[in-house]
Amino acid sequence: MSDSTTPVRVRFAPSPTGKLHVGGARTAIYNWAFARSHHGTFILRIDDTDPTRSTEENTQIILRALRWLGLDWDEGPEVGGDFGPYEQTERAELYRAAARRLWDEGRAYPCFCTPDQLAADKAAAQERKDPFQGYQRRCRGLDPAEARSRVEAGEPYVLRIKVPLDRGDVVVHDAVHGDVTFDAKELDDFVIQRTDGTPTYNFATVVDDAAMRITHVIRGDDHLSNTPRQIMVYEALGAPVPTFAHLSMILGADGKKLSKRHGATNVEEYRDAGYLSDAFVNYLALLGWSLDGETTIVPRATLAARFSLDHVSKNPATFDPDKLDWINATYLNAMSDDEFARKVMVPELVSAHLMAPGERRDPAWLRALARVVKPRTKMSADAARVAAPVFATAATLAYDEKSVAKGLARQGAGAILDAASEALGTVDAADWTAEAVDTALEALPEELGLKKRLVFQAVRVAVCGNLVSPPLGETMALVGKDDCLARVARARTMAL
Ligand code: GLU
Repeated sequence: MSDSTTPVRVRFAPSPTGKLHVGGARTAIYNWAFARSHHGTFILRIDDTDPTRSTEENTQIILRALRWLGLDWDEGPEVGGDFGPYEQTERAELYRAAARRLWDEGRAYPCFCTPDQLAADKAAAQERKDPFQGYQRRCRGLDPAEARSRVEAGEPYVLRIKVPLDRGDVVVHDAVHGDVTFDAKELDDFVIQRTDGTPTYNFATVVDDAAMRITHVIRGDDHLSNTPRQIMVYEALGAPVPTFAHLSMILGADGKKLSKRHGATNVEEYRDAGYLSDAFVNYLALLGWSLDGETTIVPRATLAARFSLDHVSKNPATFDPDKLDWINATYLNAMSDDEFARKVMVPELVSAHLMAPGERRDPAWLRALARVVKPRTKMSADAARVAAPVFATAATLAYDEKSVAKGLARQGAGAILDAASEALGTVDAADWTAEAVDTALEALPEELGLKKRLVFQAVRVAVCGNLVSPPLGETMALVGKDDCLARVARARTMAL
């Protein structure tokens, strides 16, 4: 185990065989937060040794997703570092050298068994109910000189690690699961280098983790069963064994492993759906970790200061989309009106083509719009929908059919609009504020002898096109006097 005075070095090591999914993102967040809270180093390594499934495109997607999540890495692709290269395909020589060293030291040996031979040995072990069902160590006893000459003669071989026969149980001291004991009898002399000279995952990972001086391996618990093998490699290499922390699975609402069936699983799908990176990171951090058992809003800075492995749960976490939405809305609403306008509303308006890229608007007007839109925005994309009536004109405003039926297509609606038009006409255009508009409309219900609700419904539909729009006065102030009156006039043609 690494002692507590060694500076913390952790790594996130995705295989670029697909996009960054929610589980991988959580692993990355925990590594990042652990490094930050321990003033350590967060390393990104690309585990691209599977050439059939790894692509450069996936690597780029993963880097982009990590950047969107705001997980800055201290060493890795694009930033470099003293322990590179940080792509496994660039490290082939290092694996070969490490395997060669173990072979030279008698800690690994070449195995010439054909697949048929291996299958026959396995069947025989099953037949005699041998408690040891792994590789039967057929080549372990070969005379080293003879083995070398067979290799030199060009016979195909793999390199296997020589697990000491007296090793005893292997205990993984896991920071999340506690001590997990593996029966040494189940550990066979597994392959570290394939016939084509490439390293196996368990070998390459440990060569890298040792060379990169990784102190804590934080990863999904699908790797827990690999860990005893990896410990064998550390021991063979004479390298200190890091602390392991295996994170429990993330489940869907039905208790099954989170997958496509449950909805979006890739980080970029969440970005594209308009979630805020800060909110998404906050939510994922809570899938298996908690600050104090109750706090739900844990900003990035708190995570970076206070994350610790002893608050990681060993129970599986359930992905709850409603909670994510709630956290997202909370982050949106915690923004100042200016920040909301700049970071969320304007970009959404631009992508909805309601504003031109780079278009300038009066900052006070934008702030007033943000004040109206923000509390009605749960997802960023809501902002454009809520603000759309403000950007329409009397000619282009879309009228919602149901709202028209309810607010305009009823007896007396015409009289309401006539009275509203007259009252609004008296407001000075230079003094067209929410207060002035509200004051002008205030007296109408009594004047007309109608319920307040009916009067305001009609005006609301006339000006906004629907019944669910933001406060009337503020919206009308944003729209401006002329267009408000033009909208009322247009609606008058729909009113009875
Ligand atoms: N490349 C492995 C994966 O994506 C990670 C292995 C590890 O963290 O040790 O599952």
